[in-house]
Amino acid sequence: MERNDIDRLVRRNIATLSPYSTARDEYQGELGTFLDANENPYENGYNRYPDPHQRRLKTRLSAIKGVPVENIFVGNGSDEAIDLIFRIFCEPHQDNVVAIAPSYGMYKVAAAINDIEVREVQLGDDFSLPVDAILGRTDANTKAIFLCSPNNPTGNAFPRGEILRLADAFDGITVVDEAYIDFAEVEGLKDEIFRRPRLIVLQTLSKAWAMAGLRIGLALADSRVVELMSMVKYPYNVSEATMRIVKDLLDLPVDDQVASIKTQRAVVMDALSRMKVVRRVYPSDANFVLVRFDDADAVYDHLIGDGIIVRNRNRVKGCEGCLRITIGLKEENDKLLKSLAEYETKSYLR
Ligand SMILES: *Cc1c(COP(=O)(O)O)cnc(C)c1O
Repeated sequence: MERNDIDRLVRRNIATLSPYSTARDEYQGELGTFLDANENPYENGYNRYPDPHQRRLKTRLSAIKGVPVENIFVGNGSDEAIDLIFRIFCEPHQDNVVAIAPSYGMYKVAAAINDIEVREVQLGDDFSLPVDAILGRTDANTKAIFLCSPNNPTGNAFPRGEILRLADAFDGITVVDEAYIDFAEVEGLKDEIFRRPRLIVLQTLSKAWAMAGLRIGLALADSRVVELMSMVKYPYNVSEATMRIVKDLLDLPVDDQVASIKTQRAVVMDALSRMKVVRRVYPSDANFVLVRFDDADAVYDHLIGDGIIVRNRNRVKGCEGCLRITIGLKEENDKLLKSLAEYETKSYLR
């Protein structure tokens, strides 16, 4: 029954796809004389193709996340998982998805590349999740809803009950991008995938896990969804070098770093909220904070002048007047606050 619930949403060409079968798929074994993949036999550490199923890495991730291996897809960044969702479920030029706005820019780009219409629904007051408006934009060709919680660039996490109400009322795929969940006080939704085959939770090693340069994104989902994603991905989408380094870095605890970032977030938000040039500091469940200024462009330019680069969201609908500021090291945050204090002094002297 669950299988049908997903397969009815899959594009016909994907449902009937015979996936590429690698040499390592046809013979699996650790030891042997491998003359099957046209590799160079002289060992240098990387002369063999990597495991297309990433079994060791997934076993490690499974222990960390408390999610079985068969429910984990590992991609070349979350961006790969986002693209695969379009390619698996959305018929170009016919299907559509609904996404919240403002939110992460990749959903729109991946949709455009796949020739899929995106119906954007603006967040409500204080960036609340407009569940009924989102449902109202769906139709028979809506295959997926994209949510991001905690949301980029607004910083807030949506109430779990609201996300689940939406996921349960919608009969397509609900994607919840949890790139920032490790910085949130609320629980993520990964445990809900076992009750909800159409729920896909995206996570990443790029933020809290400090591996943005290695490009590892995860989709946590029903095993059939993971099977489909694995079938459509490039067979060797994660390199041997990446997997080795990631496995080592996963052994280094990042809990203390995350705790420090959260402490610094409170310090930065408190200092910002006292500044006269700041109109509003939005609540944050992420490692950044969205701040509304009287004159965001002027603040942005001032910070650039001091060699501090933040993200200018002034021209994003719903974020007018806002800069998105990543929480850095204490020294970096102090430098930011000092520069802003100088800007404030300067602007009130005019
Ligand atoms: C940073 C970020 C990601 C991470 O993408 P990767 O491709 O895994 O680096 C995903 N989603 C959102 C909303 C982000 O802000």
